Amino acid sequence: MAPKVDQAELAKRVLNGERRALARAITLVESARADHRAEATELLAMLAKARREALRIGLSGTPGVGKSTFIEAFGTMLTAKGLRVAVLAVDPSSTRTGGSILGDKTRMERLSRDPNAFIRPSPSQTELGGVARRTRDAVALCEAAGFDVVLIETVGVGQSETLVAEMSDLFVLLIAPAGGDELQGVKRGIMEIADLILVNKADGDLKPAATRTCADYTQALRLMRARDDDPEGFPKAMMVSALSEMGLAEAWDEMFALGEWRKQSGHWSRRRAAQARGWFEEEVRQGLIARLTADAGLRVAMAELGGEVAAGRAAPGAAAKEILARLQAGSGPERE
Ligand code: GDP
Repeated sequence: MAPKVDQAELAKRVLNGERRALARAITLVESARADHRAEATELLAMLAKARREALRIGLSGTPGVGKSTFIEAFGTMLTAKGLRVAVLAVDPSSTRTGGSILGDKTRMERLSRDPNAFIRPSPSQTELGGVARRTRDAVALCEAAGFDVVLIETVGVGQSETLVAEMSDLFVLLIAPAGGDELQGVKRGIMEIADLILVNKADGDLKPAATRTCADYTQALRLMRARDDDPEGFPKAMMVSALSEMGLAEAWDEMFALGEWRKQSGHWSRRRAAQARGWFEEEVRQGLIARLTADAGLRVAMAELGGEVAAGRAAPGAAAKEILARLQAGSGPERE
């Protein structure tokens, strides 16, 4: 077992805002090893006492829309204002390839050299739920390290946007200007969770298309949703150019204003409370599943009963009940 002093020392250094300590702590929470998990849990519990909060901004967009260009320019603008900015990523492709292109330092060279910025690519895990869980812990670590803004980047694929929205205070969708029917291409679910839609590349030849796209989205948002827990005018669409940095200051003003509004209206704390409760329940679920799969006897029973169910000799509900009863009885030694 790692000595407790180390944990306390690491916690202290994270609280001091040391980036190397933060990187080490994130490596710890990303580890699948049982002893590391235990240390990570302890570390997170220690750090939670500091009760530090950042503005967590979820950011999504399809590959090529300009996410890294945007984060580089936007992040640098924020650090120039004296804010400390962390960039994390939830990369669904990392679950397949084991590698990650999001949150990559080489994509954001200027920001990665900025002493007030911290960039971390997506953890590679076998499933998206694991990536989400590790990222959630990394967000908490960045907050403890005193970062003011945590940007959580993801690509517009599958469930990853919902996962990121669930760990963010506000959600920003980056889209590219396009002609005609491209509104159809954006899934309704994403429109529903976006607080701000930024039409990027509103520069040069693309400006007229960006203007049309922005108007289309403005109208679509108006038709789609009037949320009573949002201030006047939200959700909204605006034009930016990550390349020329046009509109970035305005986009930040909108994000900041929405964050402040939500703090004052109580929406922020209600949302965070609901998120915390959801994560707790998820941890319990994951813990139960881990116990189920760690138990060799139960694994065998699962496989056997699965075969019975598949062959029509047992009913799914009754078979599940039997497994759960054996889990409750503690049919084997408990392992992490
Ligand atoms: P990502 O895959 O979403 O991270 O997109 P990148 O940031 O790598 O950008 C993809 C391409 O779009 C690159 O060639 C960028 O130079 C270009 N790009 C990004 N932002 C802008 C912009 O605001 N205007 C224009 N014209 N091009 C941009």
